[in-house]
Amino acid sequence: MAREAHDPHGEGLMEFALSEADAAFRSDLVGFLDRELAEGWSRSEHGLGSAVYTDFSRDFVRTLAAKGWLTPHWPREYGGGGQGAWQHFVLGEEMWKRGEPRGPQYMNVNWVGPALIKYGTEEQKRELLPPIARGDVFWCQGFSEPEAGTDLAALRTRAVREGEDYVLNGQKIWTSYANEADYCFLLARTGSVADGRNGISVFLLPLRTPGVDVRRIEGFVGEHSFNELFLTDVRVPGSCLLGEENKGWDIVRRTLAYERVGAPRYARAALVLDGLADWCRAAGLLTDPGVQEQFGQARALCEAARVLVYRVIDERAKAKEPSPMAYQARAAMVQAERAVGDLALDVMGSEALVEQSPGDAQFRNSLGAGIAAGSYEVQLNLISRLILKLPKE
Ligand SMILES: Cc1cc2nc3c(=O)[nH]c(=O)nc-3n(C[C@H](O)[C@H](O)[C@H](O)COP(=O)(O)OP(=O)(O)OC[C@H]3O[C@@H](n4cnc5c(N)ncnc54)[C@H](O)[C@@H]3O)c2cc1C
Repeated sequence: MAREAHDPHGEGLMEFALSEADAAFRSDLVGFLDRELAEGWSRSEHGLGSAVYTDFSRDFVRTLAAKGWLTPHWPREYGGGGQGAWQHFVLGEEMWKRGEPRGPQYMNVNWVGPALIKYGTEEQKRELLPPIARGDVFWCQGFSEPEAGTDLAALRTRAVREGEDYVLNGQKIWTSYANEADYCFLLARTGSVADGRNGISVFLLPLRTPGVDVRRIEGFVGEHSFNELFLTDVRVPGSCLLGEENKGWDIVRRTLAYERVGAPRYARAALVLDGLADWCRAAGLLTDPGVQEQFGQARALCEAARVLVYRVIDERAKAKEPSPMAYQARAAMVQAERAVGDLALDVMGSEALVEQSPGDAQFRNSLGAGIAAGSYEVQLNLISRLILKLPKE
């Protein structure tokens, strides 16, 4: 919960403190995670996308759901707990610190479900939300294409209406978890290419539909996380369309605003930093003023990212429309991840290059952080235009 700080100069200061109920929730959750997760459980040991990581997350998420801790922030009628945005965020922080044991299902609860709640028909909500709230399904995100990453509005996957159905053809790339997913939240062009972002629609595609071919891509972030998705004459009923035809861009904008701060990366980076400090202390490096300065800078970046993300969550808790602050928060998280990754390489030297060591894991995390959910450079462009009001280059 955020509260306005004492602000004698009217500078819009704010301080954040959890309500008693949210603080008690965090403490229960930490105890639960200590019991449920084996000692040392973390993404760095199992590998994101590995079978052991994915299998674990399936069981773990069902346990979480049974406690009412998977979708506490959703409305009760859709399987939620009717709690606020802060409780969901506390969950995100604690999960991310532990390597995100919800696996791909963090996307379900963070942005897939909220998009269905806002734009879905009653039929879509009744069919698709309860399995998410029970922890029974995996969703993936089919946005990027080979020639449409940053320039997402250039996507070419087509959906053509035939009677009551749509027929999909095209290719997606970098589709995390598509190899395990049941559904894809997919963007396709229903208008002409010249319509740009005004000719795009969202489809809720069951991945077992004939004509869907998922192929693995080796990546730097984990054993098996990336995939390509080939769609050849994939026929789906009109009920798979989310929202209105050609109006998918509004849904995308909202979805990305949730996604940008969905992974509280600073929380994990700060823990890695603590581990690095222990390592440096043992190695006798922590008395070096240069090393101390690097630690100070990295810690400050983690804290700045935390507070900037809290401002975004505060907007959400007050039911305001997503604002450009999300770009700032995400850029700050990337800076924090990178500062900790660079520090690990600097102080640990070749030890940080050992595969799946904390240094290696942090370095890979920081690489992905600057690309996934929109690249860092593009966030800077958006900040310059929308927050600093600089002219478009
Ligand atoms: C870990 C991870 C998971 C991902 N998961 C998914 C997923 O599940 N589903 C999905 O759809 N996609 C996913 N992606 C893809 C991701 O969304 C894209 O990689 C991203 O949007 C960038 O697109 P691109 O790779 O085509 O790079 P490009 O758009 O080709 O950009 C290449 C480089 O050029 C820079 N650049 C491009 N345009 C500009 C500009 N105007 N100004 C300044 N610099 C610019 C970019 O910053 C970047 O550094 C994932 C990516 C990663 C790393």
